[in-house]
Amino acid sequence: MKIIVSAGVGALGLIALGVSSGGVGSAERVGSAGGVEPATDEVLAAALVQDTPVVQRAQEPRPQQRRRWRYRNRYPGPIPTPEEWQPPDGPVRIGLQVGHWRAHEAPRELRRLRGNGGNWNGTAEWEVNLEIVRRTGAMLEELGYVVDILPAVVPPGYRAHLFLAIHADASNDRNARGYRVAAPSRDATGRASGFVDLLRRTYGSATGLRRLPDTTRRMRNYYAFNFRRYEHALHPMTIAAIIETGFLTNAADRELIIGQPDRVARGIVDAITEFPITPPPGRFE
Ligand SMILES: [Zn+2]
Repeated sequence: MKIIVSAGVGALGLIALGVSSGGVGSAERVGSAGGVEPATDEVLAAALVQDTPVVQRAQEPRPQQRRRWRYRNRYPGPIPTPEEWQPPDGPVRIGLQVGHWRAHEAPRELRRLRGNGGNWNGTAEWEVNLEIVRRTGAMLEELGYVVDILPAVVPPGYRAHLFLAIHADASNDRNARGYRVAAPSRDATGRASGFVDLLRRTYGSATGLRRLPDTTRRMRNYYAFNFRRYEHALHPMTIAAIIETGFLTNAADRELIIGQPDRVARGIVDAITEFPITPPPGRFE
């Protein structure tokens, strides 16, 4: 599994940490040590600097600068239509995003991500998400897929055959429980809802959890889907979905998403293998 950490755009490009078989272990090290490696810190600091406007005229009033930054279209190219959709070259690539992981590294455009994420009794949501992603990734690799593990910030224009953001819900109401799956509200590929329908079914049968019929606006308008607004967003041709695997704040859900992560992973893997666009690579070779 490849762990991809985006450090801004331009010359900095991407940094890959903990590549290949040792990836899982090193991901843990990076994620749970509370800090990051010095080199990464430096690059990220540079990325943040780079993210601020390069040209600044002293005479210009500040509010105007801010407005221009905020409303600039981050994807000025033509948005492809579903008919123009083409899978990326190469083997079937699945991007699994660990919700909130390394969110403290978010660049300025996503600075609001830095402090959020659910929590239960000292367990951060990202830790639960990471465990699920590790197991899902391992199962997919066994089937021959290429798997990218992505933190909260995705590389600019990230391309894969399929991207899935993995989260867990939290609520003040301890009885709130269940999972939900959503597609982007604007889906240029026209294929996300097909995957979402599959995942709703396979996740329910693998876990026995209850599906919540509603999805939230925050899910449908998830920042990583919003290539117009953010540089660090998916390429419009990456089929994408988001799952809230269950409630960290509910005992029964927790028993499953923390206690039986393999069932959670199975529910996700089953949808990916059934999805016609992402069949197991071994199947037709
Ligand atoms: Zn979350």
